[in-house]
Formats: sequence, C-alpha cells, structure tokens
Amino acid sequence: MEEPPKIQRLSESVVNRIAAGEVIQRPVSAVKELVENSLDAASTSINLTIKDGGLKLIQISDDGHGIRHDDLPILCERHTTSKLSSFEDLQSIKSMGFRGEALASMTYVAHVTVTTITKGQLHDGVMEHEPRPCAAVKGTQIMVENLFYNMAARRKTLQNSSDDYSKIVDVVSRFAIHHTNVSFSCKKHGAVKADVHTVATSSRLDAIRTVYGVSAAHNLIQVEASDNDPSSSLFEMKGYISNANYGAKKITMVLFINDRLVEWSALKRAIEIVYAATLPKAAKPFIYISIVLPPENIDVNVHPTKREVSLLNQEVIIERIQSVIESTLRSSNEARTFQEQT
Ligand code: ADP
Ligand code: MG
Repeated sequence: MEEPPKIQRLSESVVNRIAAGEVIQRPVSAVKELVENSLDAASTSINLTIKDGGLKLIQISDDGHGIRHDDLPILCERHTTSKLSSFEDLQSIKSMGFRGEALASMTYVAHVTVTTITKGQLHDGVMEHEPRPCAAVKGTQIMVENLFYNMAARRKTLQNSSDDYSKIVDVVSRFAIHHTNVSFSCKKHGAVKADVHTVATSSRLDAIRTVYGVSAAHNLIQVEASDNDPSSSLFEMKGYISNANYGAKKITMVLFINDRLVEWSALKRAIEIVYAATLPKAAKPFIYISIVLPPENIDVNVHPTKREVSLLNQEVIIERIQSVIESTLRSSNEARTFQEQT
C-alpha cells in the first residue's frame, strides 16, 4: 500500500496571500474597503481616481482623522485595527471595519502607499522604509497599485472583463446616496469629468437625483416601516422606491443595514415579486432602503468581504417590508390610474 500524502504547513506568506485573495476579490472590493475606512475615519470628503479598472491604480484621499505616526509600522499587518479590541465589541460595533484585514490584504496582492502626515510604503504587511514626514495635510491618501501583480490567473480573468470600472462607479454611487453628509467623487485617471460627483446635502432625494439622474428621482415614492415589538423583530426601515412610471432593464437595489452596504437576496426577491404582481408593466424598480436594528440582532462577521450580514427574525422583517411596499405601490398606482381617467 502506498503511503498517504504528507500534510505540510503552508508558509505564512502563502497563507496571507490566499486569505488576501478572499478579502480582495476584485478591484471593487478594494474600493469598498478603502471607502469604508475613510467613512470610519469620519471623513466629509472622499475622492477616488481609478486607472485601468482599478488594476493599475486605485487612489483615494479623504479628510478624516488620519493615522497616528506610531501606528504606521503595524498599519498593514493582519489583524491590526483601531476599531475592535474584544470579541464582545462585535456585538455593538458601529464602524464598518473591525478585523484589520483589508489594508494588510491589499499589501499582499498590490503595492500600497499611505500618506497621512507621514508617508510609508508597505509590502507584504510590513513597512518598507521608515515613514517619511510629508506636508501636513488633514486626512489620508492611499494608493493601491498593480493589484494582483502576483496572482497571474486573477489578473488575467480581470483584464478580460471590461466592467470593473463600472462596478466601482456603482459602489461609490451607493455610498454617495446613503452618506449624504459626505461629498464623493470618482473618476478615471486623467479624466476631467468625474463619473460620480456629489456635494454634501441634507436631502436624500437630491443626492439620488445627482447620482442616478432626474428621471429616477422624479419617480420615487418615500416608504417607511417599523416594528417596535421586542418579541418579534424590532427594526426601522426608511427608503425610496420607484413607482409605475419608472422601468429599468435591471433592478437597482441599494440596501444599507445599520449603515453597512450589504446584499440581501431574499429581500430583493421579495420586492421583485411585489413589483411583478402589483404594477401593470412589471418594470424593474429602483430601490433604496436603509434598515436600522439593534446591533445585537445583527451578525456582521459572516462573510469574508462583509457583503452579507445575518439578522435575527429575517422572515418577519422581509414580510413587513414587502407588505409596506405593496400597499404603497398599490395606492400610488390607483392614484395614477384615477388621474389618467379624469
Ligand atoms: P479595519 O478597518 O477592519 O480596522 P483595515 O485594514 O481596513 O482594518 O484598516 C486598519 C486600520 O487602519 C484601521 O483600523 C484604521 O485605524 C486605519 N485606517 C485605515 N484607513 C484609514 C483612513 N482612511 N483614515 C484613518 N485611519 C485609517
Ligand atoms: Mg477597514
């Protein structure tokens, strides 16, 4: 009989690169992490420049609280964070980051330069040179260059897909309509005009108009739902949904849960069903929804890219939102039909 294959321990750098490939799946995942860091740093202005769909360059600058000089050397090590100290903190965490993995991951699959009062270059989780002092500007600038330079297969598949820049614009657009007190811009390197450009505003609808256009904003209805019964679900939902005059080829569903940009396919399906059943032409809707629930009812640590979260009483929440959307749509549609008849 042949001997079974021998189990070997992977070297740390292989482990780190494999893990990094999960956290940073494509350029847009790096952008999402970087924007979240800027938001966590209480920035009011976030600007992005992108070259080659993010593969050549992702540059972000913010006016947030910056990074302490003493922290720079461990900034890009795995599991170094200013946001979490005990596991229990996860129960009440307000920041979007918590596991100190994003920046480290980027240094394993790209070249990262951080400028925040001091400037340091980072590679494989470590600082290459002593941080150099530089012009004391407020905030932080991060450059991520040559993403996936050391992951041939990933780079190849991404180079053949042309839509990464649009994915980046999409994710920045979503942040921009939720964080209306922050101004955002995102443009291609060398371009004069930005593809997303918002100014801080107090009106959600203004933000949606700026980002998604007049016709989308013109056809939106405000929705609200809540449940104050502690035994069932306990949540509050606010949002804007498109009416019967709006029809896109694809659904746009922008969802924030406790200020986290997430996906929730069960809720999305539930809403699509309502539109298909309620509206005459069953056009694909535009949906912006923000759900707030007690932090202890949400588990944020269920996905390597934090794309999904897990909630207590999911079914109850979906049902409530579904029925509010259904009745809102029905009454707006009846009003419309009535207007057309008179
Ligand atoms: P996490 O966000 O989970 O803490 P990251 O790897 O994304 O992990 O970031 C590590 C740390 O670097 C953060 O905890 C924060 O202290 C600091 N940091 C990263 N980006 C910024 C930024 N734009 N402004 C201020 N601090 C930042
Ligand atoms: Mg982070």
